[in-house]
Amino acid sequence: MEEFKKYLKQLNISFLENEPLAKYTTWKVGGAADLFLEVKLADQIQDLIKKLNDLNIPYYILGSGSNVLISDQGFRGVIIKNSISGIEIYNEEQIDSQPKEDVKDVRLSQINKQEYYSFEDLDYDESQEPKVKVAIYSGTLLSLAINNLISNKVTGLQWFAGIPGTIGGAVFNNIHGGSHFFSEYLTGVDIIDEFGDIKYLSHDEMGFGYDHSKLQSDHKFILKAYFQLYKGDAKRAQETAIAWARAKKKKQPYNSAGCSFKNIDKQQMSDLNIPSNSWGYIIDNILKLKGTKKGQAMISNSHAAFIETFPGAVAEDVMALLELIHQKASETINITPKTEIFFVGFPNDRIKKFQ
Ligand SMILES: Cc1cc2nc3c(=O)[nH]c(=O)nc-3n(C[C@H](O)[C@H](O)[C@H](O)COP(=O)(O)OP(=O)(O)OC[C@H]3O[C@@H](n4cnc5c(N)ncnc54)[C@H](O)[C@@H]3O)c2cc1C
Repeated sequence: MEEFKKYLKQLNISFLENEPLAKYTTWKVGGAADLFLEVKLADQIQDLIKKLNDLNIPYYILGSGSNVLISDQGFRGVIIKNSISGIEIYNEEQIDSQPKEDVKDVRLSQINKQEYYSFEDLDYDESQEPKVKVAIYSGTLLSLAINNLISNKVTGLQWFAGIPGTIGGAVFNNIHGGSHFFSEYLTGVDIIDEFGDIKYLSHDEMGFGYDHSKLQSDHKFILKAYFQLYKGDAKRAQETAIAWARAKKKKQPYNSAGCSFKNIDKQQMSDLNIPSNSWGYIIDNILKLKGTKKGQAMISNSHAAFIETFPGAVAEDVMALLELIHQKASETINITPKTEIFFVGFPNDRIKKFQ
């Protein structure tokens, strides 16, 4: 680490030591990182990643911290807070790929709108609108990207309004907004490999699935994402974004990390003979755990798949609730819930039951 610090000083890159990480997450819990860096420049990140790999120093990338649980012990290594942002809108003629049928298949085979979401009234099809290619740097906030694009009359990402993450986090977990997956709009990404080189991965190379991309096992830095969006109805997109974000806000506490668990599959739903595949339904109606508190964390009363925290909460409070749900579900319905969130700084044997 000393050599890395020396390197940062030579390059005039500022860093913080023993920086508490709670304030960089929506759960507002988690201990300190040995070293913390906020990166705003694309050229800088290439050199940093190469150096960290050369020196064999563990590092972890943080976007908005809205999908991570950081342990109270923090992280031994370097946390890179990604703030590399920017949006590029290209001319129509520069489109280099067409909508991918397989992307639509992913959506249709995994999501049945009527069963899974109640945003039917807001949803509409834009596939016949003129297309436009857009590139967005990974540290750009999703909300900022959506607003910026709509004000430039570019539509397509309005379904993801109200999700408090960055573009990088959205690609990494292939987020879902209403009945739409992020991967429906992605044509490719630039990643940075361990040598600091930029590599392009096409949509097909990203292994997208429900809350999944291949990048989760590769652990490469996502630098930039390429989208095929639309020159659609900007007014309608704006209204949709506002209405959807508002509807989410009513039900979903912000001091959380979103839904903690992945929906169960159709077979499990039919075996249980329940009308919903959501853990919110199971935790509320079968496990009867809604409103349960551990320390300063609580299984939300407004959406039981969300765990919310209050001032003074620690990561162990959240973990205690995740473990309680896991244990009760295993005993009561013989299903082990899989988490949608990512754990940082926990020993593997503590978290493997959730994966
Ligand atoms: C109130 C609320 C509502 C939510 N609603 C939804 C929803 O509707 N749908 C949904 O899918 N999610 C939802 N979420 C979860 C979360 O907001 C999303 O998953 C979001 O995209 C995470 O982005 P982030 O920048 O915060 O990622 P972080 O939490 O910072 O990181 C998450 C993971 O992505 C990795 N990562 C982040 N950036 C990069 C990068 N540039 N390169 C490589 N890896 C990277 C991190 O290392 C980490 O493993 C919600 C969360 C909250 C708090």
